[in-house]
Amino acid sequence: MSTTETVEKHEFQAEVARLLNMMVRSVYSETEIFLRELISNASDACDRLRYDALTDPSLTEGDSAFRIAITADAAARTLTIADNGIGMNRDDLIANLGTIARSGTAAFMEKLSGDSKKDVSLIGQFGVGFYAAFMVADKVEVTSRKAGDAQAWKWTSDGQGSYTIEPAARDGRGTTIVLHVREDESEYLDVHRLRHIVTTYSDHIAFPIHLSEVKDGAVTEEESVNKGSALWTRPKAEVTDEQYTAFYRHAGHAFDAPALTLHYRAEGAIEYTALLFVPEERPLDLFDPARKPRVKLYVKRVFITDDTDDLIPGYLRFLRGVVDSEDLPLNVSREMLQNNPVVARMRKAVTGRVVSALEAKAKDDADGFDKIWSSFGPVIKEGIYEDGERRGALLKIARFRSTHGDGWTTLGDYLARMKEGQDAIYYVSAPDIDAARRSPHLEGFTSRGVEVLLLTDPVDDFWLSMVPEHEGKAFRSVTRGGADLSKLDGKDESAEKPADDARMVTLIAALKHALGDQVKDVRTTDRLTGSAVCLVADDGDMDLNLQRLLKQHNQLGFEAQRILEINPGHPLIAALAERADQPGALDALGDPALLLLDQARILEGELPADPAAFARRLADLMAKGLA
Ligand code: ADP
Ligand code: MG
Repeated sequence: MSTTETVEKHEFQAEVARLLNMMVRSVYSETEIFLRELISNASDACDRLRYDALTDPSLTEGDSAFRIAITADAAARTLTIADNGIGMNRDDLIANLGTIARSGTAAFMEKLSGDSKKDVSLIGQFGVGFYAAFMVADKVEVTSRKAGDAQAWKWTSDGQGSYTIEPAARDGRGTTIVLHVREDESEYLDVHRLRHIVTTYSDHIAFPIHLSEVKDGAVTEEESVNKGSALWTRPKAEVTDEQYTAFYRHAGHAFDAPALTLHYRAEGAIEYTALLFVPEERPLDLFDPARKPRVKLYVKRVFITDDTDDLIPGYLRFLRGVVDSEDLPLNVSREMLQNNPVVARMRKAVTGRVVSALEAKAKDDADGFDKIWSSFGPVIKEGIYEDGERRGALLKIARFRSTHGDGWTTLGDYLARMKEGQDAIYYVSAPDIDAARRSPHLEGFTSRGVEVLLLTDPVDDFWLSMVPEHEGKAFRSVTRGGADLSKLDGKDESAEKPADDARMVTLIAALKHALGDQVKDVRTTDRLTGSAVCLVADDGDMDLNLQRLLKQHNQLGFEAQRILEINPGHPLIAALAERADQPGALDALGDPALLLLDQARILEGELPADPAAFARRLADLMAKGLA
């Protein structure tokens, strides 16, 4: 076979091509992060082989000391990063260096705007891993031999849409990446600069990193540039913030800084070390159903897996970092982690520690905690629903928007601001904050100075169904059930609500007649001040927003009828009541009744039941008014 026949050419997956194109054009100021990414991959490769060698020691026979070597050759303008990790075969090269398999890729691609400034900050959130090499190199060659294989393969690309793969030779297993450094990036051929980058970003790497250069055709002696011990095993007092941040970025594939760092060693019934981080920024795939917790599980310093559903509850899936167990057997298989009692106990302990750390943060640094809450509140609230044991603690730290100002509020703050005679925590649940603030149901509450929580996360409707009350005060939706606000006016509680006058009773009867089974009931309310009408759910029925939510997801089996409430103090309702008392009222009030109902629907953010009929009725009425 001639060489040309053995060289295969492949196109990059469209997403990769777009990403590469952007990297090459990009004005990303921190090009140096490419080295961190490549060292991080080399370290992962060593970790993975060490794990596989637990069950098949022959894989590392003769070469069991893992290492990463960086060599700069200024004359040849190449920078080489080599490891003796797990390596890649032909198929691995195609799958790993030709596509992006990471979750969140779709969301990332959708958000790309073509505006390079914005996109660069997005790259920051997503992380581009291996492809970062093309920020500094105009050609990259990857020669790799998978542990256990005799054949090596070479992957080559200039980052311009395609790459080639061909058989190659390599001494021993592992991966060698040769970067042909671009003219304007010569700093990456300078050993001093490289040493600085490695100590800044990769000191925590658990494998020794050696640095050398080619001078006058000969390789200089290698120097070891990092400590080579895992960061989490070092005493807290010896780790700087910069080192924590660098480790967080490595372990979390992240570019931001941790908003909260939790580092501790648990001793006693279960022994483990945890180094966990809450990120600053919300990752793009936080609500992706495929998104899983990505904390890395180690056993006695050996990496086991980062598929850690069993270790970290879903509502803490934004956590990054490492849990290193002393109790699990080293040969634990990933499958054995499921239903493992040691893992279950660690999960409980880790969850407890994280929730306590969040509580402490909320207490000591309210602004910092608000930021965490803005990014991850909707996820943490899933814990109120799922984690009965920590419900109380989570409710205490939970932050809400409310009619009291624009900032966050806690339930504690709300309780302290409650009006005399108020016996419930009122809330409105809506698809977004504007809709919540616009809700007509708030009128009677705000006019009486009663605060209402504005809930806008889909999860709110679910945890509320599990939590009837907090500190003895019931949660009550302002869009469900009757609103007896007279109590809050300081009136005698035993006093009967004044009965509707006769004309109002007639109007209600006429409206019910016209609307038939489109509504469950029609009644007057003191919930409204400025609006004429609104819709509410009946006491035992599902709240309006939850119905809407389930309907969107085709999960609503049965749509409960709603109640139309009318505001007796509104001039329109008063005028209609007047009309209801005169002959021919049933006929005359037919169209207005339907218009009122459609108006209430619009206030709920819905369409009129029949938009064409609605427009016709409205036009008729306006024409009459103008005639
Ligand atoms: P990530 O590290 O987030 O998975 P990268 O783009 O950095 O994404 O790398 C893509 C994949 O390529 C890795 O998941 C790994 O499977 C493979 N890979 C990259 N570098 C190496 C290496 N030095 N040794 C073995 N596999 C590697
Ligand atoms: Mg990587």
